[in-house]
Amino acid sequence: MVSRSGHWLGRGPSLGRQFLRRLLATALPRRLFVTSGPATSRQVCLTFDDGPHPEFTPALLDFLKSRMVRATFFVVGRQAEQYPELVRRMASEGHVVANHSYAHPRPGQRSAFQLMAEVARTDAYVESLLGIRPRLFRPPYGKTTPAQLWRLWRTGHGVVLWNVDPRDYARVDSGEVRAWFDQRPLRGGDLVLLHDTCPHAIAVLPDLIEQARGSGLCFTTLSAWAGPAYFARAEGTFASSRPTASAACEHGGYGFEQK
Ligand SMILES: [Zn+2]
Repeated sequence: MVSRSGHWLGRGPSLGRQFLRRLLATALPRRLFVTSGPATSRQVCLTFDDGPHPEFTPALLDFLKSRMVRATFFVVGRQAEQYPELVRRMASEGHVVANHSYAHPRPGQRSAFQLMAEVARTDAYVESLLGIRPRLFRPPYGKTTPAQLWRLWRTGHGVVLWNVDPRDYARVDSGEVRAWFDQRPLRGGDLVLLHDTCPHAIAVLPDLIEQARGSGLCFTTLSAWAGPAYFARAEGTFASSRPTASAACEHGGYGFEQK
C-alpha cells in the first residue's frame, strides 16, 4: 500500500490507497484523522486550500459572509506571512484557520522532521496573529507517510483529507467544476476540497450553496467534526437568518447527528 515514493493516502486512483484511507477513517477518531463527516449528518464542510490569495480570498470571504456560510481555510504559512490581514479576517468572520504547511512542498521533498518544522513554523505564525494555535493539518497534495502521520499525532495535530474533490485547480473554467457538481451533488457529511488560489470556487459557490440548502443541508467548519477543543475560541457566531433546520445545524457543535 505504500507507493515507491514511500507516500500513501494521497490523491490518486490507487485502490490500495483508497482502502487504507477508509480503514484509517473508520478506525481512528475524527480528531486524529478525518476524510468526511458522519454519514448521518446533514452538514457539509467546505475547505479552501493554498491561500490566502490577495485577489480571490477577499472575494471569497465577502461571498461567504453574504451567505452566512462558515468554512475552513488551510493556509500556507508563507502566504499567510504575506497577507496576515486576510488570516485575521478569516478568523474574525467565524472561519477556522488550519495549517497546510509553510511552503507547500511536493511529496518526497521533505523528511518527516523537515515537514514538522514547516508545520511548527506555520502554527507559530498563525498563533502570533490569532492567539490560537492551529491543530488541524492537511498535507500538501494529501500525501503523507507513516512517519509524518506519527509525528503529527504526537504533536497533537489532527490530519484532514477530503472525500469530495472536483479538482478546481486543474479546470479550464468554472463550467467544468459546475458540471462536476451536477454529476455529484453535495451530500451530508461531505468534506469538500476547493482552493482560494483560483477563481472557480467563487464562481460555482452561489449555485452550490443554494442547491445544498435547498436539499436540507447546511454548512459547518471542521471544528464541529474534528473536535471543539480545537479552535473553540476561533468560532464565530454567525446567526443564521433561516428559521429552518439549517439554522440549528449551522452553528456547528456536536448536534449534527440525526436521531
Ligand atoms: Zn495544497
